[in-house]
Amino acid sequence: MTVDTQELLDRIQPAQGGREIFDPATGELVGRAPEATAEELEDAVARAKAAQPGWAARSDQDRSKALHAAADAIETNAEQLAHLLSREQGKPLNGPNARFEVGACVSWLRATAEFSLEPETLVDDDSGKAVLHWRPLGVVGAIGPWNWPMMISIWQIAPSLRQGNTVVIKPSGYTPLSVLALVDVLNSALPADVLIAVPGRGDLGEKLTKHSDIAKIMFTGSTATGKHIIKNAADTVKRMTMELGGNDAGIVLDDADPKALAEDLFWGAFINTGQTCAALKRLYVPESLYEEVCESLVEVAKNMPMGVGLEEQNVLGPLQNKSQWEIVDRLVKAAKDSGARVLIGGDPEEGATGYFYPTTLVADIDPENPLVVEEQFGPALPIVKYTDLEQAIEWSNTLNVGLGSSVWSSNPERAEEVASRLVAGSTWINKHGAIDPRVPFGGARESGFGVEFGTHGLKEVSQPHVISR
Ligand code: NDP
Repeated sequence: MTVDTQELLDRIQPAQGGREIFDPATGELVGRAPEATAEELEDAVARAKAAQPGWAARSDQDRSKALHAAADAIETNAEQLAHLLSREQGKPLNGPNARFEVGACVSWLRATAEFSLEPETLVDDDSGKAVLHWRPLGVVGAIGPWNWPMMISIWQIAPSLRQGNTVVIKPSGYTPLSVLALVDVLNSALPADVLIAVPGRGDLGEKLTKHSDIAKIMFTGSTATGKHIIKNAADTVKRMTMELGGNDAGIVLDDADPKALAEDLFWGAFINTGQTCAALKRLYVPESLYEEVCESLVEVAKNMPMGVGLEEQNVLGPLQNKSQWEIVDRLVKAAKDSGARVLIGGDPEEGATGYFYPTTLVADIDPENPLVVEEQFGPALPIVKYTDLEQAIEWSNTLNVGLGSSVWSSNPERAEEVASRLVAGSTWINKHGAIDPRVPFGGARESGFGVEFGTHGLKEVSQPHVISR
């Protein structure tokens, strides 16, 4: 059944004009996105600044209730939001995709509503007393990507609001409608001006990052843009959380059971059709298990339908945009040209509608190949053979990024020992990319800094204030 998203679109589209947004699977028009002017950005920041003291003055319990009410509003509109997300982003309704993403928005809001940062008594003795309080920062500027536009927006919005900040959010120009619709739904439950969306492209984002009334930037996107933002935010000494690109390694140990792990390995790599910051992007497999792992992955891959998001049977979709399609195509071609063995996929249909790239597994690939060392951000997994575990650990740690990583083994203690030697913000055992609202998530090296989620995440959107006597 196709759910009517027109009502949502009517509330967010401009009366006339706007930038046309097309479905990456079908090329059909999804809707028209408004574009905020520099004056509208100024107005948004001024309103968010004016609303912030009143929001911060509410009780902690009140703000917690508001987040639960916002989660209720998403639940009421869940199917419409999932359908709009599917059409604009391309991801299927089913599998770990659109409905899953909308559901995650609800869970993250509810979990964040239940966290709280209590004042910490640091000293209380004859010498005196020192208590650390967590104050709001002011107005948070949130800038997000196009791969998980709703969920990542919630990751930025929920902790910021929880701690008494207000938020001005700039969605990715590729997926503005999803975020505008989400913000519209959230605002049906939130007080005026605590959350304001300003749709526009990178130039508008840049203005936000330089604005003197923005206290903190929460950014998720590419490392290149992240570096640009860090420079731009220097003049106003903004706080920042930077969730940037990654190239996550997974190491299979020689005691693993390939058949038992195959499906989890597959989804670790192909969640959201590979367009996930912390997806498994290069897999290292010991020679003794190599063929068995390759065969098991092919078996899983063969049975995962890819297609138009609104067709219920599909669990893999198109790339969201042409540039991303071209990155994946270039990297797979580089692998093929080097003589690597394509196990499945690797041959996109010429002239097909939509930015579909077939599920691709590449074996017998050199560890230095561009498909291994560059972030593909799409449905193409290189599987590298190793003979010495030390070598696999070294390859895993050799790049300048370190968002996630994983170790796959039948022996959890041994896996943990290997995990402790990997440079990453998160290392999972026998799973990859399994995030949890209670568990901090962030990157090492050029994958960024700062963490999201849990009480650690709340601290990132708070000003520590110590009162001593
Ligand atoms: P970008 O980093 O270009 O975009 C992310 C966000 O930043 C968008 O909202 C973008 O706006 C905005 N932006 C762009 N330039 C500026 C600027 N100068 N100042 C402030 N904000 C700015 O990522 P892309 O969407 O182009 O994706 C490119 C690559 O990034 C991918 O191939 C992938 O490797 C990585 N990526 C990583 C993600 C992650 O979750 N870590 C998510 C998405 C992408 P707009 O797009 O409207 O111009």
